[in-house]
Amino acid sequence: MIKARSFKGGIHPPGNKYLSSKQPITRLPAPETVWVPLCQHMGVPSKPTVSKGDKVTTGQEIGSQNGFISLPTHSPVNGTVKSVENFPMPHRRTGPCVVIETESEDGGQVFEKWDDYSSHSPAEITERIKLAGVCGMGGASFPTYVKLSPPPDKNIDTLIINGIECEPYLTADHRLMLENPDDIILGMEILAYTLGVENCLLGIEINKPDAIKIMDEKGCCVLPLKVSYPQGAEKQLIDAATGREVPAGGLPLDVGVVVQNVGTAAAVAKAVRDGEPSLRRIITLTGRGVISPANYDACVGTLFSDLIGKSGGYTEDVKRLISGGPMMGMSLYTDGVPVTKGTSGVLALTDDEVRDVVESPCIRCGKCVDVCPLRLIPNLIALAAENEKWKLAEEFGALNCMACGTCSYVCPAGRYLVHYIKKAQDAIRANKGKEA
Ligand code: SF4
Ligand code: SF4
Repeated sequence: MIKARSFKGGIHPPGNKYLSSKQPITRLPAPETVWVPLCQHMGVPSKPTVSKGDKVTTGQEIGSQNGFISLPTHSPVNGTVKSVENFPMPHRRTGPCVVIETESEDGGQVFEKWDDYSSHSPAEITERIKLAGVCGMGGASFPTYVKLSPPPDKNIDTLIINGIECEPYLTADHRLMLENPDDIILGMEILAYTLGVENCLLGIEINKPDAIKIMDEKGCCVLPLKVSYPQGAEKQLIDAATGREVPAGGLPLDVGVVVQNVGTAAAVAKAVRDGEPSLRRIITLTGRGVISPANYDACVGTLFSDLIGKSGGYTEDVKRLISGGPMMGMSLYTDGVPVTKGTSGVLALTDDEVRDVVESPCIRCGKCVDVCPLRLIPNLIALAAENEKWKLAEEFGALNCMACGTCSYVCPAGRYLVHYIKKAQDAIRANKGKEA
């Protein structure tokens, strides 16, 4: 192992991971009804291939891929389709779901098992990963097969597996590394083979010494990283691991790197070795607003309210519900939203855990500039956005912002910096759409 590295900028918010980090992953049976979203990935939703009254089996395709940046959707249970309808989603909008009444569930193997992945070509494996509906499980939910299909002029030489989990509170990836390291390692090997790379690293922050030890003993090339938010963001991880800088507006493949999350690696192993589509995910349910914080293995389409019920319900002083982590997650107005492949956590926070700030004018202290990991000038982008000067906001680099929330976190004036910057991003993209 080598010395812990990191990136420039960043912050150290309280981790609060102790609430759930010792809780082993509990596999939950499927609930009586599942609401399976047809868009659990970045890009175009899949097209429903079933309708009311159809019988479906575990692993059956219920939505077909609908474009390049799209994936098929599969049923996580045996049951009967009750409806295909719009339903509230964890990202606050509504989206189409296949609603299935559960009769039973089984393993979900629908493809041939491949005991020896290396007897299949990289193209065959990429196709399998696509058909299995595997997408990034670290947050962005980008279709994994697309990342495995770089343009021919991009020379990929490094695969980085992301075991950072830098968002406070979340412990799902940590538990996965402790409890199922073999699937992660097999997934890493399959991904490296498919990309044709030999340099394969696993990044883990040094606040998870038990995970570092296990993965190191299993023969992984572990890259220990300093604890700093947002260490798990792709560009910051690449910088810390390789010293390469992804250009503004560029992608990891522009510097010869592909990054995949540990959960994605495990899903790849299941798809290739076991012939199982992506039907379940590990979720951290935590915060002082829930009676028993836990790490669950739940099927997609399980409602957040079902998870909270399994954990004994809310405490009396619960104040806010968030899908994802406290830095980049989304506040929810209801717990009646379904788990997707991208749901890393559900937070139920109390008054003590929520920082309600009253916004006041910028005092030009420069703290937001100091911590921005992308070296942007958040105060100026936000000011331009507040005054609807979209062109100026674009010139300041609004589109490069990854909405990590680091600048808002440190701002003594409580400026809603991310809110303004996102507003600018939406306006700039909408204007570009009109120009096209
Ligand atoms: S941290 Fe807040 S107050 Fe300080 S410069 Fe940035 S926006 Fe202004
Ligand atoms: S939210 Fe955007 S501007 Fe703010 S620190 Fe993160 S990348 Fe920089």
